[in-house]
Amino acid sequence: MRLFGTNGVRGKVPLEINPAFGHKLAMAIAMCFEDREFLIGGDTRKSTPAIKEAVISALLASGKDVVDLGVLPTPALQHACMVRRRPGVMITASHNPPEFNGIKVIASDGTELMRGDEERIEKAFYSEKYWYVSWERFGEVTRTDYTEEYVKSVVSRVNASLISGAGISVIADLANGAAWRTTPAILRRLGVAQKTINSHPDGLFPGRPSEPKRENLALLMALVREEGADLGIAHDGDADRVIFVDERGEYISGDKILALFAREIVKKKGGGKVVTPVSTSLAVEEVVREEGGEVVYTRVGAPIVARTMREVGAVFGGEENGGYIFPEHQYCRDGGMAVAALLEILAESGESLSSLVASLPRYSQCKRSVECPNAAKERVMDAIASAIDLPKETMDGVKARISPRSWVLIRPSGTEPIIRVYAEGTTEEEARRIADEYARLAEEIVDEVLRHNPEG
Ligand code: MG
Repeated sequence: MRLFGTNGVRGKVPLEINPAFGHKLAMAIAMCFEDREFLIGGDTRKSTPAIKEAVISALLASGKDVVDLGVLPTPALQHACMVRRRPGVMITASHNPPEFNGIKVIASDGTELMRGDEERIEKAFYSEKYWYVSWERFGEVTRTDYTEEYVKSVVSRVNASLISGAGISVIADLANGAAWRTTPAILRRLGVAQKTINSHPDGLFPGRPSEPKRENLALLMALVREEGADLGIAHDGDADRVIFVDERGEYISGDKILALFAREIVKKKGGGKVVTPVSTSLAVEEVVREEGGEVVYTRVGAPIVARTMREVGAVFGGEENGGYIFPEHQYCRDGGMAVAALLEILAESGESLSSLVASLPRYSQCKRSVECPNAAKERVMDAIASAIDLPKETMDGVKARISPRSWVLIRPSGTEPIIRVYAEGTTEEEARRIADEYARLAEEIVDEVLRHNPEG
C-alpha cells in the first residue's frame, strides 16, 4: 500500500496521523538512511509538537542524532538539509485544514525524496523491518534555530540595496503559519515597510484557512487597498508557496506571477530553460520564447519539476499554485525566496505590480472534474486518448493542442475518484467552452466504460 502522496504522508489527526504512527514511520525512515544525523522541523499546527517528539524519539532509539530546528518553513528546513548535507523530516500538512498533519522526508541534498526511496520506506514500514539499537548507541538531540541562516541566504540572492531604496510597502498575511518569523525578517532586511496580519503562530488558524485562495484573502486584499500598499503577500501554512496581491488589492493568480518570473529571469540570463508542468498556462511558453528561452514540460508535481530543473540546468521553474523554484537558491519551492525575487523585479522596473502583470499575454483557464471510479481510470484514459483526433501528447494524462493559443488537458486525479479537465484559451468564454466540451466527452466515455464493466 502507498503511504506517500505527491507531498509526503498526510492525513487527519488523530485517526490517520498520530504520535504512534509518526514513531513507526520514523523507525522505517531511520532504517533507510545510512546518515548518522537528521534535521527536523515543523509547522505551527497544534499536533505538530506531539508528532515531532514521537519522530525524534524513534530516530534517537534507532541510533540517529537529531538537530531540531523548531518551527520553520519547509523550504528553510530543505535549505538546512542542503547546506549541512543531512536528511530531514518536516512535520507539516502545508495548506490543509488544522485537523490535518503530515510527515515529509527530505533527502540530504535538500530535495524531496524520489519515489524509489519512498517505496523503500513503505516496505520497511509495512514489513516492520526496524529495531531499536542497544542503549549505549541511542542518539542525542540538540535544538537550535535556523531562521537567521535562511533569511541571510535569501537576502544574499537579491539586490538588497536596490530594493531598500525603492520605497516599497507591503502587507504580509502569514496565515498564523511557519513563516511568522522568516518573512517579516526578510522584509526588514530588505528595507521594505511592512505591516503583517495573522502573524502570530497559532495551530487553530484563527485568521484564515491556510490555503492562499482568493476567497481566503479578502482581508489582505481590502487592507492593501485601504493602506495604499504596493503589494500584498500571502503564504500557505508551511510557506513553500506564496500568492501576491497587487497595489489595487487585486488577487493575482499564480500562473501570472510564474510567467512574470520566467520572463524576467530568462531576459536577465539572455536565454535558458524554464521547467513547468503540462498544466501551466501558454503565457509562460510565450514570454520565455520571446526572450530567447525554452520551456521544458513535466508531469504535474513540484518534486518532478525540481528534479527536471536540475537535470536540464534550468534557470527557473514552478507551478501555477504559487510554488516557485529558484535554482541558484535551492531546488525546491521557496515562498521566502519568491517574496525577495518579486520585490527585486518591482524595484528594478519601477513599475507597479498591476502594470507588470498587464504586460503579460492574456490567457484564461477553466477546470472541470468528472466522476470516475479509480478502477476504470486507465481504460477511460485510453478511450479518451483515441477519441481525440488532434495533435496530442501523453506525458501526464492527454494534452491536446486545439489551436496555437488553446489546449485541453485531461488527467486522472492521483487521490480522488475523478478525472480532471483543464482548458486554456485567450478568453474566459473560450476556456469555459473547451472545458465543457471535453468534460462532456469524458462523461460519455466514463458511462460507456462502466456500461461494459459496471465494476469499473
Ligand atoms: Mg505548502
